[in-house]
Amino acid sequence: MSEKQFDGKGAIVTGATRGIGKAAVLELAKRGCNVAFNYASSAEAAEKIKAEVEGYGVACFAQACDVASTEAAADFVKSAKETLGSIDYLVNNAGITRDNLIMRMKEEDWDAVIDTNLKGAWNFSKAVLRPMMRNEDGGVILNISSISGVVGMLGQSNYSASKAGMIGLTKSLAKEVASRNVTVNALALGMVATDMTDEMNEEFREKILANIPLGRFAEPQEIAEIICFLLSGSAKYITGQVIQADGGLAI
Ligand code: NAP
Repeated sequence: MSEKQFDGKGAIVTGATRGIGKAAVLELAKRGCNVAFNYASSAEAAEKIKAEVEGYGVACFAQACDVASTEAAADFVKSAKETLGSIDYLVNNAGITRDNLIMRMKEEDWDAVIDTNLKGAWNFSKAVLRPMMRNEDGGVILNISSISGVVGMLGQSNYSASKAGMIGLTKSLAKEVASRNVTVNALALGMVATDMTDEMNEEFREKILANIPLGRFAEPQEIAEIICFLLSGSAKYITGQVIQADGGLAI
């Protein structure tokens, strides 16, 4: 049997029943990685993805887990480690939007987005650190941020703040764990064709499209390939960085 890129490694991807997370989980499994993933409520989709992952001959752990809960995150990581053997990679991908102008935004929409996107990433990073630091060759944490967190977006004060917060988290944590061979980076995405961008109204979509030099939204699969590169040994000298994959939107 030929050796695959991530043979024997273990990855946790949060929020992987749809979109970018799902594509990342399947690409990692295809490349030989054992994978654990969670979701908010899509149990049926999770079962199908788990079966597909196992079809690649790797181990899989899938469970509903609200990333915003510190306790649930710790429990999830513990169970994931039991199934996967080691946790070498964490992709903090779970994310939501609740867009509105600040004047109209409800407090609960601010809280939900910050708790899921930012606190969720902190929860999972904290929970994987000990097992990751014990690995002989450390590990990689990749935070899925957004150019909304780099340049700010109208109607997204909660989302932009959460994604900018992930960038601060990335830089601090990178400094804290570099000596243990754990690298931490943020992937700031532009527009990717998923349920999240499907919700956009047509006029806004056309406006954004006109500002993307590459002239199109990304497909989840091409983001999954970038994620695999950033987790791989080829990217091991990159830490504390914000890598923008946005078709040139934020140039
Ligand atoms: P998506 O298609 O809306 O999927 C979101 C995933 O996150 C689903 O699997 C969902 O589970 C899960 N999730 C939501 N809340 C959760 C929670 N509290 N706990 C655990 N899982 C939760 O999203 P996407 O477009 O693939 O985006 C993935 C990431 O990329 C997000 O962080 C997003 O902010 C970022 N991003 C996306 C774009 C874009 O254009 N799409 C651009 C920049 C950045 P259920 O299926 O159970 O709801």
